[in-house]
Amino acid sequence: MARIKANALTSVKLLSDVKEVNIDLLKIIDKNAVNLLPEEKISIYNFEDQLLYCSVDNPPEITNKDLLHRIKAEKEVQYTSNDRETVGFIYEGKNEKFIAIASAYDKTGFEKLDYLRKVYVIRFFIALAIVVVIGLFFSKQALSPLTDIVKQIDRITASNLKLKLNEGNQKDEISQLAIKFNKMLERLEDAFEMQRSFVSNASHELRTPLTTLTGQLEVALMNKDKSEPWEVLKNLLDEIKQLNKLSNGLLELAQANLDISELKIAEVRVDELVGSARAELLKRNRSYKLNLNIDEFPDEKWLTLLANEQLLRTALINIMENGCKYSENTTSEITLKFDLQNVIITISDKGIGINKDDLHRIFEPFYRSKNAKNYKGHGIGLTLAKKIIYLHKGSLKIQSVVNQGTSVEITIPHL
Ligand code: ADP
Repeated sequence: MARIKANALTSVKLLSDVKEVNIDLLKIIDKNAVNLLPEEKISIYNFEDQLLYCSVDNPPEITNKDLLHRIKAEKEVQYTSNDRETVGFIYEGKNEKFIAIASAYDKTGFEKLDYLRKVYVIRFFIALAIVVVIGLFFSKQALSPLTDIVKQIDRITASNLKLKLNEGNQKDEISQLAIKFNKMLERLEDAFEMQRSFVSNASHELRTPLTTLTGQLEVALMNKDKSEPWEVLKNLLDEIKQLNKLSNGLLELAQANLDISELKIAEVRVDELVGSARAELLKRNRSYKLNLNIDEFPDEKWLTLLANEQLLRTALINIMENGCKYSENTTSEITLKFDLQNVIITISDKGIGINKDDLHRIFEPFYRSKNAKNYKGHGIGLTLAKKIIYLHKGSLKIQSVVNQGTSVEITIPHL
């Protein structure tokens, strides 16, 4: 654009300021100029829009009046159309003002532009390739600890949960991930261990009465004179009842491992629930005594729980039964209390009590304290009760003194 303007400026200067230069001479000068541009055309107008000079031989007959007006208004106009660059400007001569319009096909300019475009495209792709290579390198470096972790995880199976991930510097996110993963492995290991010991304890508990049953039947069959059948049958029935109780308990324990959303939940009145648990236990064992005390009957709403009635009754029966079973007077005291949020059921007895060391272990499946060995039981009643109560968003507290008695406090939120 600058070169076109310079050529036009020379022409208009010559025409305006050099007397000796006429139109024909100027045409010759323009055509032979060293810096003539391809298809260059220079037109010079006076301020009355009359064409004074045109560097080409056949100038167009129609004058672009719009362009001339624009130049007059803006002093200088530049534009490009169809690869032709045009520049128009006002030249103030000594006596007169002129309008010069020059246009040309700026071949070298376009070639330069084309060249520049190519250079930029090539540079762009080279830069892109460098960025990709560097990006890949750094991402590989950044992800290498994760790749390590994946390799380590691949080595961990259910049978070797003891293997742990490398916890690195214990600070960055990947280390945190490894630490959390290791903690999860520990929990899984505990869960597997509990499951293993549960299965072995359960099979042991089932085997003992079955061995007793087999032994008693064999002795009875050896007895040729067929005497004492009643005594044998009574013992067998007793053992079968125990077995039945154990298998029911195991079944209920499996149920209590479910999520509360998977159970049938309904509104249950706690006084009726405790009453029915008490009645059921008394039906099973007529020698038990269960005294029920309700402080004060509160509002109906406070009496209502959202619960799986059957499971919660099982939990209450287990705790009430323990109270009677482990005390000489076979008596359990049941108290019902209420506060703003909860129903509090306390079941206490004056029985053999629980050793301090055993207090936190009696909720483990099949755990029985030493002083309870002479009493029938399998050690799953409290495990089951605790699970059921926690399933109902409640809690369970136990206080006990050996040879003085035990008190179990169950707290469950009411409506
Ligand atoms: P089980 O009574 O069948 O042994 P539980 O799970 O109900 O099983 O109880 C676990 C253990 O807790 C019992 O073996 C006993 O040692 C102890 N225990 C629970 N309740 C009482 C209680 N009221 N008095 C004394 N010991 C108790």
